[in-house]
Amino acid sequence: MFFTLGSIFVLVISFFLLLLGSFVFYKDSKEHTNQSFFFLTISILIWTLSRYFEDNISNVPLSYIFMLLDFASGAFFAFSILLFCLDIVKNRFTKNVFFRTAFFILPACLSILIFWTPLIIDGYTLDEANVINPIYGSLELLYDVIVLLVPLLGVGFIIFGLRKTKPEERGPYLYSLLGIFLSVAIILGTNVLFVDYIATSSHYQIYSLLGTFSPLLIILFPGYAILRYRLFNTKVFAAETFSFIILSITFVQIFVSDNFPQIIVRSLTFFAMFFMLGLFVKSVGREVKRKEELQVLSDKLAVANERLQQLDLEKSEFISIASHQLRTPLTAIKGYISLVLEGSYGEVPASIQDIMNKVYTVNDRLTHLVEDLLNVSRIEAGRIQYNFEPTHLEGLVGELVDMFTLTAKNKGLSLSLKLPAKPLPELLIDPNKIKEVVSNLIDNSLKYTKEGGTTVSVEAVKKTARIIISDTGIGIKPENITRLFEKFTRTKETTKMVASGTGLGLYVGKNFVEAHGGKIWAESDGVDKGSRFIIELPFVNSKIKAGTSDQPTRAVTLS
Ligand code: ADP
Repeated sequence: MFFTLGSIFVLVISFFLLLLGSFVFYKDSKEHTNQSFFFLTISILIWTLSRYFEDNISNVPLSYIFMLLDFASGAFFAFSILLFCLDIVKNRFTKNVFFRTAFFILPACLSILIFWTPLIIDGYTLDEANVINPIYGSLELLYDVIVLLVPLLGVGFIIFGLRKTKPEERGPYLYSLLGIFLSVAIILGTNVLFVDYIATSSHYQIYSLLGTFSPLLIILFPGYAILRYRLFNTKVFAAETFSFIILSITFVQIFVSDNFPQIIVRSLTFFAMFFMLGLFVKSVGREVKRKEELQVLSDKLAVANERLQQLDLEKSEFISIASHQLRTPLTAIKGYISLVLEGSYGEVPASIQDIMNKVYTVNDRLTHLVEDLLNVSRIEAGRIQYNFEPTHLEGLVGELVDMFTLTAKNKGLSLSLKLPAKPLPELLIDPNKIKEVVSNLIDNSLKYTKEGGTTVSVEAVKKTARIIISDTGIGIKPENITRLFEKFTRTKETTKMVASGTGLGLYVGKNFVEAHGGKIWAESDGVDKGSRFIIELPFVNSKIKAGTSDQPTRAVTLS
C-alpha cells in the first residue's frame, strides 16, 4: 500500500508541512507562537497520518493501533490549536511555563485513558466490508465534548482578539481563521453534506483524501502568516527551500548513476552546488537582516523626529510667551525715559541726562532683540500677518534714511540717498514689514563700517523695484555670503567689531521679503571691501491682494 499514489501524496505533503513547522521553530524557538505552531504541526500530522492509515491498512490489529493513535493525537491537536490561538492573541497567561505545560499534560492524560483503559475506547468491531469501527467506553462523550470545545474556544479568542487589533496587525489572525474554517468546511463537505454524492463519484478517492488531509490547511495558512508577518524573511525561506530541492535532486542523482566516472562527476557537482547554494542563502539572509535593521533604524528615527518637532514647537511657544511678557515693560521703560529726557518730571542735570541716554540706547537694543525673537517665533509658527497696501517706496526709504542721519553723523559716517529720476509706480507691500527689513540693513551698514559711509538707492530693474544698501565697511567673505540669512548667523569679523547682535535680523528680513514674492541677497568683494544688500520687490504680484493676509512662511533650519 505504500506505493499507491495516495500514500506518496500523503508522505510528500506531510514532509513539507513538517519542514514548514520545523523551519518556523528553528528560526526563533523562543518565540511562543513558533513553539505552539510546531506543537500544532506535529499533532496535526500524527492525527492526519493515523486517520489515513487507520482507513487504508488491511492488517486489523495495526489498524486498531492507528485508531487509538487517531483519538490520542486528536486530543493533542485540540489543545495545541487552543494554545496556538492564545499565543497569536498574545494572551498574558501563555507566558507562564506551567500554564504552557498544562497544554501538554491534559491531552497526555486523555491519551493514557485511550491507550490503557477502556473508558474511552473499549475495543473494536468489524463490519461486512472488514472496516474497523470503535466500541465506545463510558467517557467517550466527555472526550468528544473536550476535543470539540477546546479548539472552538481558541477560535473564539481569535475572533475576540481581532476586534481589538489594528488592521495592519490582523494578518496572523485572519490566516489562522481562514485555515481553520477551510479545513472545517472541507471536513463537513466530505463527511456530512456531500457524502452520498462522493460515495457514487468516480473521483471518490480524491474526495476522501481531501477530507482526510484538510486539517493540514490549519498548518499551511497560519504557517504562511507567521513567515510573512513575524519573521519577515519569506525570501530566506524561499531561498532555503529552493536550495534544498536542488540539492536533494543532485544528491539522488549520484545514486542513480550508471558508472563510476558519472558518480565522481555528480558527487563533485553536488559539493559545488552545496557550496554555491550555501553562499546564496547566506547572502539573501544578510540582505534581509540589513533591511530589518534599516527598518528598525527608520522607525527609531521617525519617533525621534516626531519628538524633535514637538520640542521645536514648544520652544517657539516658549519664546513667543516670554517675548510678549518682556516687550510690555520695555515699552514702558522707553516711554518713561523719553518723558524724563523731555523734562516732564523737571530739569535733568547734564550728568544724569548722559546716563539716561545710555539707558535709552540699551533699552532700545533690548526692544529690538525681543522684537526679533518674537518675529522668529511667529515665522516658525506660520503666524505672521501682513497688511498689504499700495505704498510709495521712495517715500518709505527716504523716511528711514532721515531717521538714521543723526546716527551716521555721530559715527562720522556719510549716509546718502539716491532716487530714480522717474518716480516708481506704487507697490503693494506691507510698509511696516519692509521698513523693518530696510531699517535693519541701514543699521547694519552703519554698525559694520568704520570709515566712509552708506548709500541707499532705489531703482527700477525690469519688472521689479530694487532697494540697494551699499557701504564701505568690513565686507563679507564669499563663503559666508549665503549663510548670513540663516538664523543666529554672525561672521567672526563682525563679532570682533561689534559684540552685540543676534544674527536674526537678516533671517527675519529674508522671510518678510519672500512673503512679498521678492528676493534679498548680499554682495561683497571681500573682507574690508564693503558690502551691498539688495532687496528686489515685484511691481505686480498677482498672489498678493490689498488687506490682511497670512502669508505662508518658510521655516529655515540651521545647517
Ligand atoms: P546682527 O546684525 O544682529 O548680527 P543680522 O541678521 O542683521 O544680525 O546680520 C547677520 C550677520 O550678517 C551680521 O552679524 C554680520 O556678520 C553680517 N552682516 C550684516 N550686515 C553686514 C554688513 N553691512 N557688512 C558686513 N557684514 C554684515
